[in-house]
Amino acid sequence: MKILKLLKETYPDVETALDFENPYQLLVATILSAQTTDIQVNKVTNNLFPKYPSPKELSEATQEELENDIKTIGLYKNKSKNLIKTGKILMEKFNGVIPDTREGLMELPGAGRKTANVVLSNAFNIPAIAVDTHVFRVSRRLGLSQGKTPDEVEQDLMKIIPKEDWKDAHHWLIWHGRLVCKAQNPNCQSCPLSSECCFFQNSH
Ligand code: SF4
Repeated sequence: MKILKLLKETYPDVETALDFENPYQLLVATILSAQTTDIQVNKVTNNLFPKYPSPKELSEATQEELENDIKTIGLYKNKSKNLIKTGKILMEKFNGVIPDTREGLMELPGAGRKTANVVLSNAFNIPAIAVDTHVFRVSRRLGLSQGKTPDEVEQDLMKIIPKEDWKDAHHWLIWHGRLVCKAQNPNCQSCPLSSECCFFQNSH
């Protein structure tokens, strides 16, 4: 498909912008990233990971202390609560090991399908397409999906994108959404995909 070819050529080496060294760190960073920029998350996790290096330390944190550690990012009260609960479940049910299945990951508070897919594909190299706000918007504008929910868009993308490209496609669409196809003012004039884009073709 021409759109995928163009995305691949435009974003040849893209990765997640979240800093992480293991599945535990990526899980925590992804839970923290809801409605917050990755830059902001990286600033927080820079201090957070040395202090809570594994699910054990996280499970033993107090709500007050963790809130204080992450208070510069959005929804920090709720995220603190979810992270402590996640630490406890990981210790009690998963022996302190991050599960490498979608079902296992989705048992953790704060980890929905998107977070599970991010961890599966980026930490375990298991093909999955995480549909965040950028992937959702850009996929629909390009005409890759008419889905009305992230789950519907994910199902459509899985049908048209070869499995070996699922992880990369997630990153292509995110970076295209961040850099060019922005929510409010998509920069269609300098977009390399405009000739293939439904939104652009329908508005010109
Ligand atoms: S042409 Fe415009 S709407 Fe289409 S993908 Fe490019 S920036 Fe987005």
